[in-house]
Amino acid sequence: MLDAGLREIGLELSQAQREAVDAHVRLLLAWNEHINLSGLRTATEIARGHVLDALVAVRALRVLAGGRGEITLLDIGSGGGFPGLPLAIVLPARRAALVDSIAKKAAFLDAAAAVVSDALSAAPAPQPEIVALAERAEDLADEPDQRESWDLVVARAVGTVAEVAELGLPLARRGGYVVSWKRASDAAARAALNTEIADARRIVQAAGGAGVRIVNLAAAPKVGLEGNCLVVIRKVRPTPDRYPRAAGERRRRTVP
Ligand code: SAM
Repeated sequence: MLDAGLREIGLELSQAQREAVDAHVRLLLAWNEHINLSGLRTATEIARGHVLDALVAVRALRVLAGGRGEITLLDIGSGGGFPGLPLAIVLPARRAALVDSIAKKAAFLDAAAAVVSDALSAAPAPQPEIVALAERAEDLADEPDQRESWDLVVARAVGTVAEVAELGLPLARRGGYVVSWKRASDAAARAALNTEIADARRIVQAAGGAGVRIVNLAAAPKVGLEGNCLVVIRKVRPTPDRYPRAAGERRRRTVP
């Protein structure tokens, strides 16, 4: 299923990359018996719903990165490692951080990063440095060595475009991007996404971003992921220190 899907979306993985993806999925299946990492329970469901769902964005992300082979990537609310870990393997990233505020999930991410790094070490190519961080993105953004330092900040199923913008823009470097995974498979969902984007414009502007746009993923329907798209925000100015606000304040005052 995964190999057929990779062919459909035109991605070729080295043997080491393919084994690294398998190692991640095997570990997820095993840990998912004990802690709730994913509602998808079988290897086939995970292949489409998590791995291909992440990798269908690779071409678009490579374009954003402007052909730089040295991408750094941070995944906010990575959960079972999606979309960050397959992306770290395949982009490939030079450095990747998988962030989750729940300690048990971060423990899984740490173990997954280790098996993936082990599988990739068989390849002659330079290895990505992959770390798991058991932190809230808000706290991470206060750390001087993390703030404004990542090329791509990605998030799937973590919040609205506005929430991801407020958490992600402080962590993205100037010239970098914050990218949300979204699905809009019919006219109603597309209208709802446009409203979500309109609601995000003020926080995007306030936190140093610009040009919120939807990037459609042309290959997604070929692998049963109709409507998958990215919402991409470019970081253009430094983020004022007051962002990101604490979760409570974000809920009370959605418009800054
Ligand atoms: N991204 C994964 C996926 O799509 O399969 C997991 C999505 S899950 C619905 C949301 C995850 O985000 C949870 O694991 C949660 O602990 C984490 N999360 C939510 N808010 C966060 C924050 N402010 N900082 C770090 N992690 C956060």
